[in-house]
Amino acid sequence: MADQAKIDALRNTALTPRGLLIDGQSVPSVSGKTDDVISPLDGTVLTTTAAGTVEDTERAIAAARRAFEDKRWRGMPPAARKKIMLKWADLMEAEALALAVLGVRNNGTEISMALRAEPGSAIGTIRYYAEAIDKIYGEIAPTSDDTLGLIHREAIGVVAAIIPWNFPLMIGAWKLGPALAAGNSVVLKPSETASLSLIRMAELGLEAGIPPGVLNVVTGEGKIVGEALSTSMDVDVIAFTGSGTTGRRLLQASAASNMKRCYLELGGKSANIVFADAKNLEEAAAVSAAGIFRNSGQVCVAGSRLLVEQSIHDEFVSALAKAAAAMNVGDPLDLSTHAGAINNATQLAQNLAFVEAAQGEGGNVVHGGKRILEDTGGFYMEPTIITDAKPEHAVVQKEVFGPVLAVTAFADEAEAIRQANCTDFGLAGGVWTADLSRAHRMVREMRTGVVHVNTYGGPDVTVPMGGVKQSGNGHDKSLHAFDKYVDLKTAWIKL
Ligand code: NAD
Repeated sequence: MADQAKIDALRNTALTPRGLLIDGQSVPSVSGKTDDVISPLDGTVLTTTAAGTVEDTERAIAAARRAFEDKRWRGMPPAARKKIMLKWADLMEAEALALAVLGVRNNGTEISMALRAEPGSAIGTIRYYAEAIDKIYGEIAPTSDDTLGLIHREAIGVVAAIIPWNFPLMIGAWKLGPALAAGNSVVLKPSETASLSLIRMAELGLEAGIPPGVLNVVTGEGKIVGEALSTSMDVDVIAFTGSGTTGRRLLQASAASNMKRCYLELGGKSANIVFADAKNLEEAAAVSAAGIFRNSGQVCVAGSRLLVEQSIHDEFVSALAKAAAAMNVGDPLDLSTHAGAINNATQLAQNLAFVEAAQGEGGNVVHGGKRILEDTGGFYMEPTIITDAKPEHAVVQKEVFGPVLAVTAFADEAEAIRQANCTDFGLAGGVWTADLSRAHRMVREMRTGVVHVNTYGGPDVTVPMGGVKQSGNGHDKSLHAFDKYVDLKTAWIKL
């Protein structure tokens, strides 16, 4: 159990400027330039990170390529790689609280959630894939007696992992775990606004024994570093989590360069559907509130649309508003905080603009809607509930990525399904009902990667995570994640 005094002791520690991690060394950018790292807690400058250039990115890619070609990682016995990755997880665990606090100071997530995900589930994820290293085999095909068909599973080469700001360690681990366990080399590109804990995580990987060049980190702007990775002729796989706008650019760049594999985990506009026959409406309201407002809505699978059966609409919305009002929003480093800061000023302004636009379209703000705690210099916003949201409204169709819930009533199951599937996204969703058959029908009908039933949030590393429609392709988590980082090779042998 984390204790507040220990968190407070870490909250103001001075942070040293961070360089790039290339070929096992921490180095400055060739330009000598740095970027300020702004704290979303109070708007102050925490430290600086190296402003990576195209040349820096190319050096990192070249280091990763050399490491792949000379087999210093993939050529190691599986048991040795596994030992290193398990040690990496142990090193992370040994400084879990410091990692969590560092991440929170940089990205604003409330510490209670950060401890579970950042590093909790990140550590679990590294262990999960480490344990798989010596349990994944090739296959023998069912051929005729005079032939042997072998299916080899091989590392692909250089993976570029491009990560967003909301859960840098957890999402970082979702890519690094399977990519490295499969024997690839990686160039990691953290978000401009949440890189510090991820740089530390990578350093711990090197300390655990990942050889130089196998894991490189290049900080800097997406349109410089990210673009250089996506247009490179020497990167084999892009593993991306982030916005649809960036995802589209990555697909285009991949097609225009070396046709590298391009896996996208993108945004969502997930429908959380509450039927009147749900067993416990109060619990459903509390969990639904957490499902959109935790981490101030900066969660790709957030239940940002609430579809509620007409007969319980008013009762449910007032239970939800009560649950939202009971949430502490503010200092992310306070263990009693339920929703921390918005990651950056631009995102906060976008959230507020969505609320204004929704009102202009006929939406009704029944809770929240405003920036708060402005005197701290930080970026905070009230949990916001907007009723009378219509399928044609922007707040229903577009991802806000903030603490904004759009509520729409429905008359029956068929209408609930229609509304659930009415956006271009398909990342997650939820169904609250006591009727088992209805729950299964909804799971089948909802065009989305994850459907929660009588809960919202919480799927662990054992199950896949990925979107349909414009929420992306491919899967993070579970053993299926290896599909992104492993090539199949056939050997067809005449006996
Ligand atoms: P973003 O797309 O702005 O940035 C993500 C990463 O891409 C950053 O590292 C950024 O530097 C980089 N980038 C930006 N422009 C680039 C370019 N032209 N070429 C290459 N890289 C570039 O996303 P964000 O604002 O950091 O994150 C929020 C988005 O991420 C939301 O849409 C959210 O839903 C999504 N997200 C999805 C999942 C998921 O698993 N599906 C998880 C978390 C977040």
